Amino acid sequence: MLCLVILNGVREMSDCLFCRIITGEIPSQKVYEDDYVFAFRDIAPQAPVHILVVPKEHISSAAALRPENSDAAAKCFEAIAIIAENEGLRDGFRVITNSGEHGGQTVFHLHFHLMGGKGLGSMLVVG
Ligand code: AMP
Repeated sequence: MLCLVILNGVREMSDCLFCRIITGEIPSQKVYEDDYVFAFRDIAPQAPVHILVVPKEHISSAAALRPENSDAAAKCFEAIAIIAENEGLRDGFRVITNSGEHGGQTVFHLHFHLMGGKGLGSMLVVG
């Protein structure tokens, strides 16, 4: 039973776009990396600065966060503060995570959209 769980986990990770970007198998415009977090520019930016901040641990979405893996999210937010500073976002920024079908999630590896570089207005609710 344990083997089956591990095998399923390996298959899920090897099929995952962001896991393959983290390993370098798929190229990206990396802006930040540490032991826990990888961050790169979104391929279809929705703001002058649009960066995806991703935990290296494969977690499918915010809905899969639990006490035993929530450190990964905290590490992402620590990285976001550093990246925002590096990107010159001193006037502010927005962080979004989409979760599941109604949240508009398209890549099922937890990630945070860091967006800024202009006034973004109030909350985004599209569709
Ligand atoms: P979401 O819809 O919240 O799951 O966000 C997925 C994001 O990944 C979208 O904003 C896409 O533009 C972005 N994306 C998809 N493929 C790539 C890629 N190869 N490199 C960088 N960003 C990507």
